[in-house]
Amino acid sequence: MLRINELRLPLDHAEDALRPAVLARLGIADAQLLDLHVFRRGHDARKKTAIQLVYTLDCEVADEAAVLARVQPHDPKIRPAPDTRYRGVGHAPADFAAAGGPRPVVVGFGPCGLFAALILAQMGLRPIVLERGKAVRERTQDTWGLWRKGVLEPESNVQFGEGGAGTFSDGKLWSQISDPRHLTRKVLDEFVKAGAPEEILFVSKPHIGTFRLVSMIEKMRAGIESLGGEIRFGQRVTDVSIEGGAIRGLTLASGEQLRADHVVLALGHSARDSFQMLHARGVFMEAKPFSIGFRIEHPQGVIDRARFGPGAGHPLLGAADYKLVHHAKNGRSVYSFCMCPGGTVVAATSEPGRVVTNGMSQYSRNERNANAGIVVGIAPQDYRQDALLGRPAEGPVSPLDGLAFQRLWESRAYELGGGGYLAPGQLLGDFLKGRPSRVLGGVEPSYKPGVSLTDLAPALPPYAIEAIREALPAFEKQIKGFAMPDAMLTGVETRTSSPLRITRGRDFQSLNVHGLYPAGEGAGYAGGIMSAGVDGIEVAEAVGAALLGLERPSGKPSASAALY
Ligand SMILES: Cc1cc2nc3c(=O)[nH]c(=O)nc-3n(C[C@H](O)[C@H](O)[C@H](O)COP(=O)(O)OP(=O)(O)OC[C@H]3O[C@@H](n4cnc5c(N)ncnc54)[C@H](O)[C@@H]3O)c2cc1C
Repeated sequence: MLRINELRLPLDHAEDALRPAVLARLGIADAQLLDLHVFRRGHDARKKTAIQLVYTLDCEVADEAAVLARVQPHDPKIRPAPDTRYRGVGHAPADFAAAGGPRPVVVGFGPCGLFAALILAQMGLRPIVLERGKAVRERTQDTWGLWRKGVLEPESNVQFGEGGAGTFSDGKLWSQISDPRHLTRKVLDEFVKAGAPEEILFVSKPHIGTFRLVSMIEKMRAGIESLGGEIRFGQRVTDVSIEGGAIRGLTLASGEQLRADHVVLALGHSARDSFQMLHARGVFMEAKPFSIGFRIEHPQGVIDRARFGPGAGHPLLGAADYKLVHHAKNGRSVYSFCMCPGGTVVAATSEPGRVVTNGMSQYSRNERNANAGIVVGIAPQDYRQDALLGRPAEGPVSPLDGLAFQRLWESRAYELGGGGYLAPGQLLGDFLKGRPSRVLGGVEPSYKPGVSLTDLAPALPPYAIEAIREALPAFEKQIKGFAMPDAMLTGVETRTSSPLRITRGRDFQSLNVHGLYPAGEGAGYAGGIMSAGVDGIEVAEAVGAALLGLERPSGKPSASAALY
């Protein structure tokens, strides 16, 4: 199989234009092209009046070696296609369970725990999954309870429950991780088996949207159960038992004690009580950087026109997205995060009396507004409470300082919103001029249960406000209309990634607790659905290899806290 990278055709090319273009690029006759399929399709919209579709194509040709020898010297973008099939580490012997082989435990059933459990189940290791939240249908009702009625269910919400944090999301499925083993393909393949649209396998920035994710997660749960796995909802892990530097068991909120020698900790970034418990038990962890900011909303049409010009609205382009970065004079970087075309801003707190924003879309991405986080990078030395006053921090930073910092600004946002989980909001024009907003402009905020107009300056530390004020006009230079005075800012975005890392060694185990496998976003090793899924796969392989005495695939881990 040969892979052709970067075959470019005009946006409106005829349906049958691909094959002749491939023949011309390879310099072969039609009869020599035995099979052709699209591996990836993206677009290049840098020149708005001549937008191009950019294909990566896999082709089976007669006499491949000869074709390659002829074309590659002058066209290095044609290469043998890599083998992207998933190769696991092995399978438990048939009598493993009957002989009382130990069952691994996975804590958390977000994308990381889901893929960890799936791989362990596929290895024949019958994992037990403990998830503090509810099954996804019940969880959906609780989540809507906050959005519609302002009632928060602390154990069942946007962050907690089956499917994890990204269940009510845009379902963007790309990541900036390096992926030498093509594990992202395994994630996509499993999603397609569970009912995701096949196009996620080839569009360059696939997304699924909230409603489809819900039914896919149910199917994946059924798949794990059919292989002997067990998923227990409403089972919050409240304590760990560590003996002689090794994990020996878990305590649940019900008081139940569970023996466990191999535990995947896939907690997500909002399990603050669990982080505190692990810290108290001496599990090694350290503070890590994350970002804070606001959500911004524009009419989707403004973004479409700025990005695609006359091509705006073309079905192959869909609703336009953007990715922006600005390095501010005060040394802070401001960037767009989790951009949701045609979506809504959502209330994403898991703790009472706090307000957190995030974004989601349906598969159709046809809501009227585009939204994205506009966030500022911060580092552990910023996490001290003194940061409220813009004072430099003193003394060593504790791994838990980031949590306290997040809570501080989330509580402040709740106060500024006036209670009832209303979010504080301000028009961009007013924000830049430093005056509170009193009336809405042309952009209606989508956040539910609602937005309270105010001055957002007290909602973040002064250095963050300063950097965002500088970045918004700079972004206008890249996207015309971005700094429109009516654009809506809603606060606060504090959970961009985990504020700490539960550090692990090359064997994926905690640095100081044997048998404990910190994984996914909460442990600081993923930053999105895809990277969390990939990390879950690799951690499960490490657990499986340890349990079965097998070799784990060598090389550097694929996943990282790289964002999506
Ligand atoms: C609104 C929103 C939109 C998003 N949109 C996207 C997107 O479009 N694309 C993308 O790539 N990413 C998106 N993300 C981020 C993405 O959801 C996360 O990066 C990803 O879910 C992390 O996966 P995880 O499995 O590591 O953790 P999580 O998904 O957070 O899952 C952790 C699970 O552990 C459970 N848990 C925690 N503590 C305990 C305990 N003590 N006992 C038992 N269970 C426990 C939680 O209930 C939770 O279900 C979005 C996030 C949000 C909130």
